[in-house]
Amino acid sequence: TVRTRIAPSPTGDPHVGTAYIALFNQCFARAQGGEFVLRIEDTDRQRSTPESEKAILDSLRWLGLDWQEGPDVGGAHGPYRQSERGDIYKKHCDELVEKGHAFRCYRTGEELEQLRDELREAGRTALKPSDLALPEDEVEKRKAAGEPYVVRMKVPESGTCVVDDLLRGPIEIDWAQVDAQILLKSDGMPTYHLANVVDDHLMEISHVVRGEEWINSAPKHKLLYEYFGWEMPVLCHLPLLRNPDKTKLSKRKNPTSILYYQRAGFMPEAVLNYLGRMGWSMPDEREKFSLQEMLEHFDIHRVSLGGPVFDVEKLSWLNGLWIRELEDEQLADRLQDWLYNRDNLLKVLPHAKGRMETFGDFAPLVSFLAAGQLPLTGDSFSGNKLETDEQKKLLQFALWRLEALRTWERDDIFQAMKALANAMDIKLKDFNAPLFVAISGTTASFSVMDAMVLLGPDLSRARLRHAID
Ligand code: ATP
Ligand code: GLU
Repeated sequence: TVRTRIAPSPTGDPHVGTAYIALFNQCFARAQGGEFVLRIEDTDRQRSTPESEKAILDSLRWLGLDWQEGPDVGGAHGPYRQSERGDIYKKHCDELVEKGHAFRCYRTGEELEQLRDELREAGRTALKPSDLALPEDEVEKRKAAGEPYVVRMKVPESGTCVVDDLLRGPIEIDWAQVDAQILLKSDGMPTYHLANVVDDHLMEISHVVRGEEWINSAPKHKLLYEYFGWEMPVLCHLPLLRNPDKTKLSKRKNPTSILYYQRAGFMPEAVLNYLGRMGWSMPDEREKFSLQEMLEHFDIHRVSLGGPVFDVEKLSWLNGLWIRELEDEQLADRLQDWLYNRDNLLKVLPHAKGRMETFGDFAPLVSFLAAGQLPLTGDSFSGNKLETDEQKKLLQFALWRLEALRTWERDDIFQAMKALANAMDIKLKDFNAPLFVAISGTTASFSVMDAMVLLGPDLSRARLRHAID
């Protein structure tokens, strides 16, 4: 049977790119009566968080995707979180060392830096086992001293590796470019490459459908399958999503978090529909289609390899089509769920209550939360103390600081903004004024820090970007 998987790393907000790859995996498997699996790749213990994992699963489900096996639904090939499979990787890594396909490397950070310098001078790109080798007695000495080591895979010094891709045909990559990849880190955790190959095999994945950013990893994976004596799944690398200017989709230019689209009032069906149009089209080229319809007509060979552009304006247009086809009853339910649901109200009320005399005051107070983008003009900023140019500069600096934040708590945002105001030598009150306009668009609202927390990082950043443009 055909088995595919999506393997997100829970290191941040749920990315539209993850949903796009998941959608194609699900369609590819189900169109052939196969199975679709979700696996969490959380071997980077520093950057992985349970909050991110939850946000990714919730977002994919919100879009209407579903998987037969995964950390939340179980299955016969579990556990589905790599952090819970440490023994499995260790065992397989030991096997490679025993067979002579991998070796313990005791090189220190300093030595590696020096080796990299020498490599660069020699005009080479990859560290090979021969570069890394140490005299036998030196290895023994370091081993006896209990020094830390990593396990690396052996790789050929020269020649060409050919990997087959379902859409691209044979791809040739020179072994000279391929490092003696670390498989097991000094803390005993596997790297992506080892864990990914071992899991795809043990989870009986037949087709690996993923972003083209992984093409360069394919030779290492192919070699690992050979070392283990396993059959390699069919590889299929999809084109990456792009900004309208054709660069790789990035949160600096576009909202990339699914949470943004949720908060900004997009319909999940429309977002999924739009993702289905990324490099793919229905046989009759119709723009609007459901997941079910996509599944019925799915053919991976209809994927075109030119970089698909993720254009929020186009998505908004498509979303409008979806909204207009809802019955009024259905739209009323959607709106109620989206804005006027109890949870949402309870989050907003503490900020609004003190400013309300009648219920009628509520809607104007919170209308900025419901808007996607605010209608700003040059005049919007003219009531503030600073010159408009200066306000825009301030907003740009604020945006950069906010992009660098790892968490989105009121206190972190406040500290970051206070530090910037200090650095710019601007009084906090004058500093906050342009932020206030960009985020809330109105003077009749509550604290700008609270507003940013409620809006979330992507919507807040999108508003600042919009105000600067
Ligand atoms: P950075 O801005 O540092 O490049 P990123 O935008 O690539 O980060 P990541 O957190 O690295 O975001 O990626 C999250 C997930 O989204 C990964 O699984 C990645 O493959 C996927 N992804 C990121 N960018 C794209 C893209 N342009 N097209 C398709 N998938 C993408
Ligand atoms: N964890 C990888 C990612 O975040 C998975 C890549 C793959 O599909 O092999 O994209």
